[in-house]
Amino acid sequence: MKKIDIIIPAYNEEEALPFLFERLEKIMKENSNYEFEILFINDGSKDKTLELIKKQREIDSRISYVDLSRNFGKEIAMIAGLDYSTGDAVIFIDADLQDPPELIPELIKYWEEGYDDVYARRKSRQGETFFKKFTSKMYYKVLQKMSKVEIQIDTGDFRLLDRRCVNALKKLRESQRCSKSMFSWIGYKKKEVLYDRDPRVAGKTKWNYKRLVDLAIDGITSFTTSPLRLSTFIAIPTFAALVIYFIYVIIKCFVVSQPIQAYQAIILLILFFSGIQILLFGIMGEYLGRIFNETKNRPLYLINEYNNKKEMNDE
Ligand code: UDP
Ligand code: MG
Repeated sequence: MKKIDIIIPAYNEEEALPFLFERLEKIMKENSNYEFEILFINDGSKDKTLELIKKQREIDSRISYVDLSRNFGKEIAMIAGLDYSTGDAVIFIDADLQDPPELIPELIKYWEEGYDDVYARRKSRQGETFFKKFTSKMYYKVLQKMSKVEIQIDTGDFRLLDRRCVNALKKLRESQRCSKSMFSWIGYKKKEVLYDRDPRVAGKTKWNYKRLVDLAIDGITSFTTSPLRLSTFIAIPTFAALVIYFIYVIIKCFVVSQPIQAYQAIILLILFFSGIQILLFGIMGEYLGRIFNETKNRPLYLINEYNNKKEMNDE
């Protein structure tokens, strides 16, 4: 019997969990020709999330969990889930039921047809502000323009991945993670499934615009180095302006023999060039910071316990 792991990153989801258990239970019952494991990644929740998971595990042995030592963010929780998964395929799903578990049989169906990465693309997004929808749309447009790898639009992390995709993703150990770009980067056979994104069933979103901006910057810099090219694009018109201005000054000197108002030109030039320098330093700093982080080679996360067993970090 094939085994499917449902990986659920959870951060302060006590209100959503009872609904989630119920909905998943039903799906698993209807698809009893598969063995399921529900693998929770408790991402440093401060509420009763872990307690609820443990309690449910007593009733249902298909539930297991990894408890991270603190809140590492969803991206890291996801790679932790992949590291601890053992199934022939994994399915990422949010704890808040914005991704309807009822879609799981369809994901599995396409997997059985031979697709490696069956991702759910949202037709609609209820319960999300216009601004959030708009910014996310624009962001993916920009990201797509900047990178050579194709990015799936309107796609979250809700997807089924074959074991070999999981193993591939596990090889990407960078600490500033952008799963969405990694899913694209690894390639393999992809299939799109459309669905309506529901509003969150209970609890509050953990997203705020700072997190979103962080994720956006990580996405761009981890995926492409084209911001580095920004300096080139700015340098070209700058030098063009320099040449034109130089010619202008020379001609004025020789033909009209009129002295130039030097102070105005100098102030403008100083502002202009110091502005460019600051920009270039900023870009370099961004990448330097990343090199710094990657060379530290820290583990991406630390585990508190795995299925009731204390993790000693001694492997
Ligand atoms: N999540 C997590 N760690 C975090 C933030 C969120 O594991 O630091 C989980 C959260 O519990 C949920 C999923 O990631 O299962 C999506 O989070 P959320 O619903 O807050 O994001 P949104 O759907 O609003 O984009
Ligand atoms: Mg959500």
